[in-house]
Amino acid sequence: MKKNKHYRCAVCKNAFKLNDVVQAPLVGKPVSDLIQHDNPDWSDESCICRSDLSNYRSKYVHSILESEKGDLSQLEKDVVDALRDHELISSDVDKEFEQKWTFGERLADRIATFGGSWSFLIIFALFLSVWIAMNSLVLFWRPVDPYPFILLNLLLSCIAAIQAPIIMMSQNRQEVKDRIRAQHDYQVNLKAELEIKLIHEKLDHLLSKQWERLIQIQELQIEQLSEINEIKKRPRHSA
Ligand SMILES: [Zn+2]
Repeated sequence: MKKNKHYRCAVCKNAFKLNDVVQAPLVGKPVSDLIQHDNPDWSDESCICRSDLSNYRSKYVHSILESEKGDLSQLEKDVVDALRDHELISSDVDKEFEQKWTFGERLADRIATFGGSWSFLIIFALFLSVWIAMNSLVLFWRPVDPYPFILLNLLLSCIAAIQAPIIMMSQNRQEVKDRIRAQHDYQVNLKAELEIKLIHEKLDHLLSKQWERLIQIQELQIEQLSEINEIKKRPRHSA
């Protein structure tokens, strides 16, 4: 005889050690129903290996989601997969996002940030005043760009023309970032919600099972007590 008893999984029919299987009474009712549906010989004495149980749990979650939302999007499918594989879904979106971008896009971001700052505004105002002062005060000398500063106008239009697309690039990037963050938040929330639902069901199931057990034990104790009573009564009657 083998030292370690092996348990046969009711789904894949492979033999496992006790640590790798879950006994049927510990499987929640809805998941248990799903297993029963596919394996008619599933009973309270059966066992199921952990990977099959995970598969059935994800099937169950899939069915809950489908019944509430209709067809599942890729985002929701990812959540169900993560639940099945016990993977963490939360991650630092900003960090991942930073790695994805080319040098040009990051440069656009930096220029847009600088263009929208007080330092840019102050530097630019200083530059304008110096330009105007130089070309007005040294008027009697030989100004490069005399009043009404046509060269300055040209420069300003060029800067405006370049700045607009840079700001738009940066805004597009921000938009993509926000969308990814929102999707990610949705996935994390959905996963948390589903996990909590599963835990709730498991707890309810365990509580009801425990209750049944307690009642069984109590019945046994009452039986034993009445037996003891009988035994106690007997010698008195005979004596
Ligand atoms: Zn199995």
